[in-house]
Amino acid sequence: MNSVGPSLVWFRNDLRVSDNPALSAAIDRGGPVAGLYVLELGGDGGRPLGLAALWKLHGALEALREALDKINVPLILKRGVSAKILPEVAGQIEAEACFWNRRYEPSAIAADKRVMEILKASKIDVRSWNGSLMVEPWQVKTKSGGWFKVFTPFCKAARAAGVDLSPIGVPSVALERRDFPGLGEVLEDWRLIPKSPDWAGGLRANWGHGEEAARSRLSDFLSDGFRGYSEGRNFPAKSNVSGISPYLRFGEISARQTRHAALIAADRANGYLDSDFEVFERELYWRDFSYNLLFHADELPTSNFQAKFDNFPWRSDPSDFDAWSKGNTGYPIVDAGMRQLWETGWMHNRVRMIVASFLTKHLMIDWRQGESWFWDTLIDADAASNPSNWQWVAGSGADAAPYFRIFNPISQGEKFDGSAEYVRRWVPEIATLPNKIIHAPWVASATQLEEAGIQLGNTYPKPIVDHSAARTRALSAYQSIRS
Ligand SMILES: Cc1cc2nc3c(=O)[nH]c(=O)nc-3n(C[C@H](O)[C@H](O)[C@H](O)COP(=O)(O)OP(=O)(O)OC[C@H]3O[C@@H](n4cnc5c(N)ncnc54)[C@H](O)[C@@H]3O)c2cc1C
Repeated sequence: MNSVGPSLVWFRNDLRVSDNPALSAAIDRGGPVAGLYVLELGGDGGRPLGLAALWKLHGALEALREALDKINVPLILKRGVSAKILPEVAGQIEAEACFWNRRYEPSAIAADKRVMEILKASKIDVRSWNGSLMVEPWQVKTKSGGWFKVFTPFCKAARAAGVDLSPIGVPSVALERRDFPGLGEVLEDWRLIPKSPDWAGGLRANWGHGEEAARSRLSDFLSDGFRGYSEGRNFPAKSNVSGISPYLRFGEISARQTRHAALIAADRANGYLDSDFEVFERELYWRDFSYNLLFHADELPTSNFQAKFDNFPWRSDPSDFDAWSKGNTGYPIVDAGMRQLWETGWMHNRVRMIVASFLTKHLMIDWRQGESWFWDTLIDADAASNPSNWQWVAGSGADAAPYFRIFNPISQGEKFDGSAEYVRRWVPEIATLPNKIIHAPWVASATQLEEAGIQLGNTYPKPIVDHSAARTRALSAYQSIRS
């Protein structure tokens, strides 16, 4: 009888065991299986990760190693260029097959193609699967065979595409275990966790790692926050959003698993949750739409999708940018969002839109600066969703919000944080102001300020721009590029 030789599974944004088609296929082949994660340096496999994402990666890899261990699959860690490392490791473990789940960033696709060619030249069986998206960019086409630049028809076509969205389960245990001592590197040596200073306390307090943590976050949401999601998702103080994005980022849970769990919850509710499910699923398709854009417009993270914005008179103002990034603009809802981001590595979607609009319109600072800040500080920093949403808010993107739609940070606060619970949580220095004025502290009377213990410009900043004047300035700048 011929014995089956080793398989290598290259993990990337799919750091989980269940619903992992590449891993399942490797185990089903029979023979020993080894996992490999490569910390790709120099942007070889895509955009180098920001600091908060690196923190998340450390935890996700630890959890993956433990989960793989239980099914007899060792995890090998390496740093460097994938086109060099994959052939090396494949040779060292005498792999006959190398499997992975696909990526969609153009530079990562190029890296994967290089690796595939090299391995195939060594007669290794190389195959790839979709482990990340509900629909891959080439599965959804316009009637004329092109790609979608507008979300609503994309979503409609994705829903109609007939793609099987059921997740696959946990793979069986690899029948034969083979370890490769001395082959990989030690995770701790990568120093992904900050030590001095240790700035990750707020991240640790808010997020766990691995499949179990992801499932538990999702099931908490489905039992306590899903009902009313379609409306409640707009209110940052409510627990009506899932908080699953950090786990989706490195694939500690898949989009298919997330959707499937929501579908089961909706089915059990006899119609009560149908509209919540519909909206939740649509949001997951926004993620696919972002990947669709990145796949087809590879310069999305760096170039305006609409070329007319190349002439936009962005302002360079380090002091305004500093006030924005530190949450010191004097606009409470903006400051609350930026402080939530800094402390927890995450921000509520409604507030992401408000702060992005404030930076690009009130301050007229280039969306790329804000996008980079998010990239470094978000633990869900996503190669597709981050630039596509920044461009959407800035007005330069595909299917973007029109530039003249400028979020008013005062009325947005009043409308979506009417009881000011969110602002009070993140901007405690103004917490005792009454609801009526807390979103615009500068309108408070001298007595109100004194009673609240606030000295504007001292204990809390005065607004760094006047809303109406900033709005007029932004609109007139937009006029200059309209034609
Ligand atoms: C300026 C800006 C930057 C953003 N950067 C990122 C980013 O780097 N990474 C990221 O995952 N999301 C990003 N988003 C989208 C969105 O804010 C987050 O996905 C969402 O807040 C995550 O929280 P949640 O998991 O509780 O969302 P839920 O409301 O529970 O939604 C479930 C999932 O749907 C997907 N989703 C929801 N809204 C969007 C959206 N607008 N675009 C794409 N996918 C969406 C996410 O995968 C999310 O986890 C950004 C939005 C803006 C306005």
